[in-house]
Amino acid sequence: MNTQPSRLLSLPEHHYSTVAVQPLHTPSLLAYNEALTAQLGLPDSAALSADERLWLAGSLKNPPQTPIATVYSGHQFGIWAGQLGDGRAMLLGDITDPNGQTWELQLKGAGITPYSRRADGRAVLRSSIREYLCSEYMHALGIPTTRALALAASADPVYREQEETAAVVTRIAPSFLRFGHFEHWYHRGSHTDVQLLADLLLEQHYPECLQADNPYLAMFATISQRSAELVAAWQSVGFCHGVLNTDNMSALGLTIDYGPFGFLDAFDPHHICNHSDTQGRYAYHAQPAIVQWNLSCLASCFLPLATEAELVSVLNDYVAQYKQAYLERMRAKLGLMRPVNEDQALIDGLMKAMAAQRVDYSLCLRHLSQVSRDGDDIPAELAALWPLPDAGLQQWLMLYRERLQAESLNDAERAVAMNAVNPKYVLRQYLLQAAIAQAEQGDASGITELAFVMSHPYDEQTEYQAYAALPPDWAAGICVSCSS
Ligand code: AMP
Ligand code: MG
Repeated sequence: MNTQPSRLLSLPEHHYSTVAVQPLHTPSLLAYNEALTAQLGLPDSAALSADERLWLAGSLKNPPQTPIATVYSGHQFGIWAGQLGDGRAMLLGDITDPNGQTWELQLKGAGITPYSRRADGRAVLRSSIREYLCSEYMHALGIPTTRALALAASADPVYREQEETAAVVTRIAPSFLRFGHFEHWYHRGSHTDVQLLADLLLEQHYPECLQADNPYLAMFATISQRSAELVAAWQSVGFCHGVLNTDNMSALGLTIDYGPFGFLDAFDPHHICNHSDTQGRYAYHAQPAIVQWNLSCLASCFLPLATEAELVSVLNDYVAQYKQAYLERMRAKLGLMRPVNEDQALIDGLMKAMAAQRVDYSLCLRHLSQVSRDGDDIPAELAALWPLPDAGLQQWLMLYRERLQAESLNDAERAVAMNAVNPKYVLRQYLLQAAIAQAEQGDASGITELAFVMSHPYDEQTEYQAYAALPPDWAAGICVSCSS
């Protein structure tokens, strides 16, 4: 594979360490993202050499580029955590695709680095399957994210609450830089390093900001806008990240570091997907405000590069940007093409009604496309999701139908538009859990099938209807924590 040295090597050496992978025993490739590798101009799986397979499994002793791990810090659960860093991530170098776009290639779980602290540098199979599948699902939903290229596994033991086995995900992104990279140098008092990082980010990823009066401020404003749009997209699909620490915030506005994430089943705005989050700091409804809080941490790091008043003004724009981005996404989900002032109230009304009856979030939105503008019946599939459809839903549908009078699309056209933005297939915990259990028994076919179904979540896939089912009762007992 044609990798180049990482562009991060232009930074002073204290920003990273060269590292060596700790090979796994007889790793095997459980998943290889053929669509993405084709886009990158990489060989298809049949054409991969034995060395390339080892390389993707973090197990090739002398890779083409010496891997590096970077140092960063961060606020974890609202508290300054000091130095963290790539404790189990290693950059394998950069790769330029046929369109001229350059990507960083990163292994997760290939062994310890100088930033591993007391941990083992490994990732378990369970969490690696989750990251592999969810990054690609996010991409299929049209939400910015790091991408997953390959998933390798071995029988090597890894100790968490119980003994599990090791796996490695190869992931790619234009950059894996995080808010935490800036925080690290700012909190050490090295403004020179903050500026060097900012220059690198500007030149490589925000060239459009270079023309601004203050390019650093323009870049911070763009990061802020992108983060607002990102969290609006998460809210609209019911995605809970689970660990929105500042070290898990991408400087490019990508979804990064898939841990104890979850998609909402029954709608509960206070849902907490991470069982380690006892206070609910990262509950679903709290995410937009938490992202703003994280941006305020990043704003502090930009104090050497812009005035406090300028940075605060950008932060103050965030709320309106978030609200606008959320409103646009939700309008589209309701098939509303001609904005009117009352739309936010209409959306709030639906959320309130869904919360009162714990209605399935994604399927409810999906089935709303079957509502006819001029009729007064409740479509059967939609009614079936509501314990008491005559209570909340019926009233809301009256308002919705009234609102639809201001639209020009007919029922069929609106249904097509709505189905293109309301996924039928949701990467729910129970589906992940089933694929994980199967893979832990040595059968990776569940991963392949789930990856396939979730790669086009908006389409009707008659053969795979079962994947669109509501979660079974046992799903309520699934526990996801930070342990991974
Ligand atoms: P996370 O909560 O996964 O975002 O990780 C927080 C920090 O802990 C990061 O610096 C990770 O690199 C590090 N970390 C998490 N798990 C491990 C592990 N098994 N080995 C080494 N470092 C880890
Ligand atoms: Mg992390």
